[in-house]
Amino acid sequence: MALIALVLLQSVAALAWGNEGHTAINRVAAQKIPASMPRFLRRAVAEIAYLGPEPDSWRSPSEFALKNAQEPDHFIDLERVSWLDPLPPGRYEFYRKLYDKRASTLAHPDNDHPDDYLPERVGLQPYITIEVYGRLKAAFREYRQRLATHQPTHAAQQAIIFYAGWLGHYVADGSQPLHTTIQYNGWVGPNPNGYTTQHTIHAQFETAYVAANITANDFAGLVKIPERLDDPFTQYIAYLKQSNGLVENVYGLEKAGGFTGKGSPAAFDFTTHRLAAGSQMLLNLWYTAWLESAAPLPEHGPPASATK
Ligand SMILES: [Zn+2]
Repeated sequence: MALIALVLLQSVAALAWGNEGHTAINRVAAQKIPASMPRFLRRAVAEIAYLGPEPDSWRSPSEFALKNAQEPDHFIDLERVSWLDPLPPGRYEFYRKLYDKRASTLAHPDNDHPDDYLPERVGLQPYITIEVYGRLKAAFREYRQRLATHQPTHAAQQAIIFYAGWLGHYVADGSQPLHTTIQYNGWVGPNPNGYTTQHTIHAQFETAYVAANITANDFAGLVKIPERLDDPFTQYIAYLKQSNGLVENVYGLEKAGGFTGKGSPAAFDFTTHRLAAGSQMLLNLWYTAWLESAAPLPEHGPPASATK
């Protein structure tokens, strides 16, 4: 029985925030959509909340190609890209930089394992996030155009709700410090503070502790009106770095027993603020996508490269 429990625990270890946390982050953000945004979206709280955990249902071995393609979207090991600042704006430039790094590490394999620089090992968190953000912005633009030309908007609304909910998953993953680090599930390397090396801290924090102790109401009050982001990608990276800066806090709280059973006040305060940070960034991205979607498309010049 203990073995079964352990296997179950490990199988959910990579889900990030678990179903409860993901649903709550999306729900709180949706409840805070301002009156200046479309009414259909403000009424879609239940649908957006439902979609919070959606990408975690794409990780089953029964759909191998899907699992394989999108699993790296849920995390980034920022320590592995500390030499790459700023991160390039597109995922294929990022791949190229990583393969170059891997090649130079193959030539000088001092401390690092070359394969640690494979894109799928480093993780692609900020790229999928900005890509889904782009889909949402494009869908908002289509919706505006249909409104302006008096065409039906129902299908465009459905697309927007899906993209908004889907986006929420990755933004929420980014607020979980253990999704931004090589210290993802048990401390590795020098360990002067004696943090746990067990492969259980990830699920204990984000799934078991949150499910047992925190609801959407516990952090809704921490989420403020949205702010327009001047540079969504750069600001999203800063958000991930801030999250990464809190990795040791998670380990310290675990060491003090903060996530065991009912947990500690310090663990509750820390976790509610992390969940709120996820909702706030999500709300800011929705708001920014809506505002940016009003800008006319740039004039089409000659294509930069041939498109297939
Ligand atoms: Zn995830």
